[in-house]
Amino acid sequence: MKKLCLLIFMLGMFSYAQTADEAQLRKIYDVSLTNAKGYDWLNHLSNQIGGRLSGSIQAQQAVDYTKSQLEKLGLDRVWLQPVMVPKWVRGTPEFAYYESTPGLSTNVPICALGGSVATRPGGLKANVIEVQGIEELETLGREKIEGKIVFFNRPFDQKLVSTFAAYAGCVDQRYMGAAEAGKYGAVGIIVRSMSSRIDDLPHTGSMSYGDTPVKDRIPAAAISTRGADLLSTTLKLNAETKFYFKQNCEQLEDVKSFNVVGEIKGSTHPNEIMIVGGHLDSWDLGDGSHDDGAGCVQSMEVLRLLKETGYKPKRTIRVVLFMNEENGLRGGNEYAKVAKSNNENHVFALESDAGGFTPRGFSLDCSDANFEKVQSWKELFEPYLIHLFVKGPSGADIDPLKTSDMLLAGLRPDLQRYFDHHHAANDTFEHVNKRELQMGAATMASLVYLVDKYGVEPTKKIKG
Ligand SMILES: [Zn+2]
Repeated sequence: MKKLCLLIFMLGMFSYAQTADEAQLRKIYDVSLTNAKGYDWLNHLSNQIGGRLSGSIQAQQAVDYTKSQLEKLGLDRVWLQPVMVPKWVRGTPEFAYYESTPGLSTNVPICALGGSVATRPGGLKANVIEVQGIEELETLGREKIEGKIVFFNRPFDQKLVSTFAAYAGCVDQRYMGAAEAGKYGAVGIIVRSMSSRIDDLPHTGSMSYGDTPVKDRIPAAAISTRGADLLSTTLKLNAETKFYFKQNCEQLEDVKSFNVVGEIKGSTHPNEIMIVGGHLDSWDLGDGSHDDGAGCVQSMEVLRLLKETGYKPKRTIRVVLFMNEENGLRGGNEYAKVAKSNNENHVFALESDAGGFTPRGFSLDCSDANFEKVQSWKELFEPYLIHLFVKGPSGADIDPLKTSDMLLAGLRPDLQRYFDHHHAANDTFEHVNKRELQMGAATMASLVYLVDKYGVEPTKKIKG
């Protein structure tokens, strides 16, 4: 009898502990869905400020706005962390056409890639050579490439369920295409937009010239997927088709900008720091609502939701809005550098930078012990249809902080529509759904709550 009573008591303890966590998650989701702030913050960032390219006036306005909103939350501390960022400007809108026979031209939508040089003022017109990837350049050789515009046209692999994997399979063309084609005497490059949707919107994104001397750098632009299909078909009918494009973008001197940081001091382990963040800069074609306005406001929401639900964190919880993820990662690198020089002990970092779509779960970059720990909370998330807990990369801005002891995580929303908008003119506020955005914020706050409550598993030190 005594044994049975003890068992019932222990079961009671267990179910009580479960209920407390269940209740806290319920509260977090309830507040996020019924009393949302993130969506309003995003409305302001997107519709009152707009695209926030590093070094722009809009980027500074976003710094000022998010700082003022964090101050209104009554956090223990809000501050700006200075960082020098590159400043690239697009200039006047780009213009392009292909000419299948002299005098017969068809306009196609293009945009300069971030970091590209301009064409000469009158534009650039040349024959085109289509390739499916960088490796093809070597096969063709200088003889077939010199004096031409190289057209990189490898599309997303539609069979891949993860659109991130499809992106990863193509993005080398955008990032390294100009540097590589330039080695064979190409005069410019055109890259198929990084998207699986066929439409008229070119998608920009970062590129690198590697160690190419300034005088040898060739202009690089993205062409819409429909434009790419048209050009490809036309080239098959007439290999002598010429392409013309004009862009007057420019790389200016670095300018001073900021990461925006706010924190709630931990009640029992203030020196153990947990961060949650997104990147405040965006590309300039749209207003950066999905990439990554959504991640910023969700991260701000995490601190508000913990406060609103009356939770007092044991550890210090910080929101960090990183500057310059898109074309330099200076904010993420600076944050990690300062953390190291201040000897700060970061135990956890979570980033949201995959769009404001319906959350599915988390990608976790951590030890097996920490992975198992997070997996053990899976049931708590099931009522909210959060089920994906996989090992994988976390986020570009938090990655520089990484140590073997840390638990790093990336929010993983549904990815099927992300690349319809990514870095294009339709990455705008009306494409973010309020409930999906707020579900993501609540999911992030729930993980932060659980990690704070139960702690991170230390890495086993090998003796000897
Ligand atoms: Zn992003």
